[in-house]
Amino acid sequence: MAKRTEKRKYHGAPTALVIGGGIAGMQASLDIADKGFRVILVESEPTIGGHMAQLDKTFPTLDCSSCILTPKMVEVGNHPNIELLTYSEVIDIQEKAGGFRTTIRKKPRYIDVKKCNACNLCAEACVQRERIPNEFDMGIGKRSAAYIPFPQAVPQKYVIDPNHCLMLTRGKCGKEPKCQKACGANAIDFTQQEETITVRVGAIVVATGYDQFDSELKPEFGYGRYENVLSGIEFERLCSASGPTQGKIQINGKEPKRVVFVQCVGSRDKTVGNEYCSRVCCMYTAKQAHLVRERIPDAKITVCYMDIRAFGKGYEEFYERVQRENIHFRRGNPSEIYERGLSLVVRGEDTLLGEPYEEEADLVVLATGLVPRKGAGNIGKLLGLSQTPDGFFQEARTEETIATSRAGIFLAGCCQGPKDIPDTVAQASGAASLACVQLAKGRS
Ligand SMILES: Cc1cc2nc3c(=O)[nH]c(=O)nc-3n(C[C@H](O)[C@H](O)[C@H](O)COP(=O)(O)OP(=O)(O)OC[C@H]3O[C@@H](n4cnc5c(N)ncnc54)[C@H](O)[C@@H]3O)c2cc1C
Repeated sequence: MAKRTEKRKYHGAPTALVIGGGIAGMQASLDIADKGFRVILVESEPTIGGHMAQLDKTFPTLDCSSCILTPKMVEVGNHPNIELLTYSEVIDIQEKAGGFRTTIRKKPRYIDVKKCNACNLCAEACVQRERIPNEFDMGIGKRSAAYIPFPQAVPQKYVIDPNHCLMLTRGKCGKEPKCQKACGANAIDFTQQEETITVRVGAIVVATGYDQFDSELKPEFGYGRYENVLSGIEFERLCSASGPTQGKIQINGKEPKRVVFVQCVGSRDKTVGNEYCSRVCCMYTAKQAHLVRERIPDAKITVCYMDIRAFGKGYEEFYERVQRENIHFRRGNPSEIYERGLSLVVRGEDTLLGEPYEEEADLVVLATGLVPRKGAGNIGKLLGLSQTPDGFFQEARTEETIATSRAGIFLAGCCQGPKDIPDTVAQASGAASLACVQLAKGRS
């Protein structure tokens, strides 16, 4: 199939572009679309959802994350005013006559989405079945080369991984690709090519989110060396009922009885160049410690912290509740984690008692901070946005966190700086309102 280039014009309704389909981008898209404007939502992954889809529960209410998120994802997928372009990226933006001419590259899924009915037969038949680390489960679970990132993904369409599918990497998979044979809907199409779409939009909301700090940059904590030292999001997947252990907190099939949480990994740490506070780690650690208490009632749980920042509505109350659950908060972050026999040893100095400590652990969870999304610099260049010294996008002024220095371009969520879900949603609704003002002025 030849490479397709398409130019689209939406007559009648001015259109906004939203870049990033996490909770921020979804909220902004729904708010703009509900006002009667059109939205093109571009998401680089095969599904929308972002990091919130990976969480088990949300602090401080302990609501089930996917129970809140899934209906919103479905609403985005079905909204008549939203065109969802997943597995896509913006490759060019030009300011033109009061609006922007945007070019979007749509990667081939190698699946005809009109035919795919998400029956899973391709994944079951794939010769790489359950062999490839599943990114959504942070590599703890495995997937096939033909896959759907998670069961509630939107769109409910499979994708073939071009880096692992034998047909795409070697040009051959046995006599005939087993997935193609198994697919009753005849949806697999190895001839698909990337497409380029050009559209004019009147406003842009940037909602590209964050990445988790790479804990290997703190080698003293043994992340990547010890299998029982996990990052914050890895632990979320371990707790999740839809995760690789169906929510059982287990390492190699065994329940850890001594669990230590380490705060501020990659935040407020000049040694790795991150001076800022990631704003969510104190609370997500309190939440995760509570989940351990709930699921392993006799576990010894310790949280090693610098100081606790519980600033949001209901946060201090939640932190106090967790403290009453027989969870030991020890002031003083560890200096090192090492192995002794079958246990890990977390070593540090208790700054309240003024003495060194050693905590033995079967599992250590690092409260990994939030860092700017890889590739944020490229999006910044395309849009003409600058970044603050920490790498997050620069807002217009410190008191104006949604507007940027460029008229018609707005920020939503963690791309502007670390924040929790309530603040993300509030900022996204603000960005949507400002985008609607631009669209109502007749920009298109
Ligand atoms: C371990 C952990 C636990 C947490 N627990 C909680 C909690 O209990 N309660 C709470 O309030 N907060 C919690 N948070 C914070 C929460 O994850 C964030 O507030 C929220 O996910 C921010 O949403 P976002 O849409 O801004 O970013 P993201 O969720 O990162 O979404 C960004 C989206 O943009 C897409 N994207 C990125 N770049 C591009 C591009 N160039 N083109 C197109 N698409 C792109 C990404 O693929 C992604 O889908 C937790 C964070 C962590 C690390």
